[in-house]
Amino acid sequence: MVEITGFEVDHTTIARKETFQIATGSSTESHGVIIKLRGDGLEGLGACCPNSVTGGDPAEVEERARELAGDLVGKEFFSVRDILDHAMEAENVCAPALAGVDQALLDLWGKHEGEPVHRLFASYRDRLTTDITLGMGSPDHVVKKAQGRAAEGFGSLKIKVGADPVTDAELVRSVRDAVGPAVEIRCDVNQGYDFEGALEFVQGVQNSGISILEQPVPAGDWDLIRAVAEVSPVPVFVDEGFHSLEDLKRIITQGMPLGINIKLQKVGGFSRALAMGSAAVEAGIPVMLGCYGETRMGIAAALHLGLCLEQFPLVDLDSFLNLDGDPTTGGFDIDRDTLSPLKKDGFGCDFHQ
Ligand SMILES: [Mg+2]
Repeated sequence: MVEITGFEVDHTTIARKETFQIATGSSTESHGVIIKLRGDGLEGLGACCPNSVTGGDPAEVEERARELAGDLVGKEFFSVRDILDHAMEAENVCAPALAGVDQALLDLWGKHEGEPVHRLFASYRDRLTTDITLGMGSPDHVVKKAQGRAAEGFGSLKIKVGADPVTDAELVRSVRDAVGPAVEIRCDVNQGYDFEGALEFVQGVQNSGISILEQPVPAGDWDLIRAVAEVSPVPVFVDEGFHSLEDLKRIITQGMPLGINIKLQKVGGFSRALAMGSAAVEAGIPVMLGCYGETRMGIAAALHLGLCLEQFPLVDLDSFLNLDGDPTTGGFDIDRDTLSPLKKDGFGCDFHQ
């Protein structure tokens, strides 16, 4: 049993090594909140990384995280099931705040049990392979970056598009020519096209062997993304439009031919994401695990989740590589494009600030 005896909440602002440009805007820094929960003489750590898709600005998320953590003081947890229930039963959820608190609880429970978190859920594997994301930029810059990343050993590239379907398709063809046929290319539109634009783009890249098309049209219009998915020769994934188990049920019951991008910060954390990921795998819905501008601590949680899904997810867990001065350390090793969790209790991360 672990009784929560105290907590601390800190905010972090971390510069990005390179400005990150996507169809909906650009960012030069990443704002986060770190949660420490204490109990049983141990400290559990969790990270929040809010943005416009998750909802909640950093100050609001910090406040909501304080409320959630404060509500836990004096509460006793007897099993990991209690932690899952805490997340599943939360109401009026601020997703990134719940994600951080849920991560801190699981980290604390793993330390209490003397196990890495993925071992608490009988993981299926011990590593995952991630893609690397290339933000928008001049064609020359993106092509050079793609070549560099492929040379570093990344076997999968995610190219950010969504400005203009014709020039975007030209860019993807140039990247394909530059990196050769063996490298996987995923394309993320970040809501940048309408129906016609999405079709124009997939026609333009029909000989470029792209593997997925992510959020081609604005989030929230399920009929529109379904219409694109029904005619697209490339599998379509929903990202900005996917937030909850209700969204997953809609996809399943309405037979939408969509994959889902699960990000812990968007769906309210590991426990909820595990429920969604498991249900999606069961229903034959392809799962991608993604991230925002997250530190190693945030990435570690998503990595542990990916180890616990019965089917290999598509993985896009690369944000820590673009942070300058990550205050969190540990969590995992990276070898070329492969992430392996450390053999440490909990999520295996530390926070220095
Ligand atoms: Mg995306």
